[in-house]
Amino acid sequence: MHADVVVVGAGPAGSTAARAIAARPALGGRARVVLLDRARFPRDKPCGGGVTIRTAQLLPFSLEPVIEDVVYGARIRLRDGRDVTRDASAPLTYMTQRRHLDRYLVEQAQAAGVEFRDGQPVRGVARLPEGDFEVETPGERIRARVVIGADGANGVVAGALGFAPPATAAVALEGNIRFPAGVPREFRGRVVLNFGYVPGGYGWVFPKGDHVNVGVGGWKGAAGRRLRPALRRLCAVYGLDAERLEDLRGHHLPMQRRGMAVAEGAAAVIGDAAGLVDPLSGEGIHAAVVSGSAVAAPVEAYLDARAPSLAAYQDAVGARLANDLDVSRALWEIFHAAPAPFVWSLQRSGRVWRRCCALVRGEAEYRDVPRTFGPIGTWTLAPVAALARRRTASRHRER
Ligand SMILES: Cc1cc2nc3c(=O)[nH]c(=O)nc-3n(C[C@H](O)[C@H](O)[C@H](O)COP(=O)(O)OP(=O)(O)OC[C@H]3O[C@@H](n4cnc5c(N)ncnc54)[C@H](O)[C@@H]3O)c2cc1C
Repeated sequence: MHADVVVVGAGPAGSTAARAIAARPALGGRARVVLLDRARFPRDKPCGGGVTIRTAQLLPFSLEPVIEDVVYGARIRLRDGRDVTRDASAPLTYMTQRRHLDRYLVEQAQAAGVEFRDGQPVRGVARLPEGDFEVETPGERIRARVVIGADGANGVVAGALGFAPPATAAVALEGNIRFPAGVPREFRGRVVLNFGYVPGGYGWVFPKGDHVNVGVGGWKGAAGRRLRPALRRLCAVYGLDAERLEDLRGHHLPMQRRGMAVAEGAAAVIGDAAGLVDPLSGEGIHAAVVSGSAVAAPVEAYLDARAPSLAAYQDAVGARLANDLDVSRALWEIFHAAPAPFVWSLQRSGRVWRRCCALVRGEAEYRDVPRTFGPIGTWTLAPVAALARRRTASRHRER
């Protein structure tokens, strides 16, 4: 079989890329775009299912059909300390379930003309001498002019095509507690964010239609073996019965190494396959959608013989994501070297809370955070982060 584009992986990155490519005007609906996933849809995946407003705004359709709750605020706490509620006047995050969200995003791609095939694990991808690719699934070999790796943190495409693997700097563990009669009022419309049980991360309780999603995540080396006790502790602090946790799953969060290649010839990696998770928040759906959208124009130019490669996608990631992820990583290092004062200011400073809301709503970017303190904030960010990293490393030797 021949295809113009094969996208491997139908998470938010892959379905966004496939849809955006199929909809490019110069291709006029003529390009054959095939979207493959090893799982049968609908499928779930370890994820809190929080879609920030900044992410939802990037999509050319409403997420309304798959939204189960709308978050307007947060309950913020350091370990077992005081629980402080902060609210915003506008929505911050939509709560969904990945099995519904991802199927819905695939349907949008199909409506744009994408050919979706689930239950198709890609076993290998090879570059052919003429510059095309051969994508191997158990049933067939697909010849493609362009291949996009959107197969997540443990995917095969990046490795097969020689992209360097992202650093797996964080891990998370999450499960669901069902409330068939409805989620208790105290959890609805707000997220619970608890800091301090797990180094380099936080615990959360996210409200859904008939359950809450409860999870903990943090630095891989320091957090790994603490995740289970931390999850039990988190449940206890918020009056949730840890024995009722279902679908318990752990997963890695891949993160970019500085200057990593995300495009090579007519191949590209996007979303988690490119390690684009936001270090500070652990949010990955945003970068999945940004990178999936950003790859479309370079693919169009390549198929249209206006560009010799997808190099423009590498530039787009640099311009739209890389700097922000660098700042987020620096803030992550600083925050978790000494979380108490930062949690305190999140709880009590109107300015800090409003800044966080602006980030989540896409009204500000991470690079604006150090600028709040003038030029000195920008200049000192990297050295302060390096100091924080050293302090943390000496406290958690195993990191
Ligand atoms: C515990 C946890 C909680 C999280 N919570 C949030 C949150 O609330 N909000 C948020 O924004 N982010 C969250 N994230 C991050 C988010 O889940 C990811 O960043 C996001 O799913 C990345 O999307 P993606 O499309 O790149 O990859 P994925 O969503 O991982 O999709 C990859 C797809 O590729 C398929 N695939 C893999 N290998 C193959 C193969 N060989 N052949 C064919 N198909 C293949 C998989 O089946 C999968 O469907 C969380 C992560 C974790 C681990």
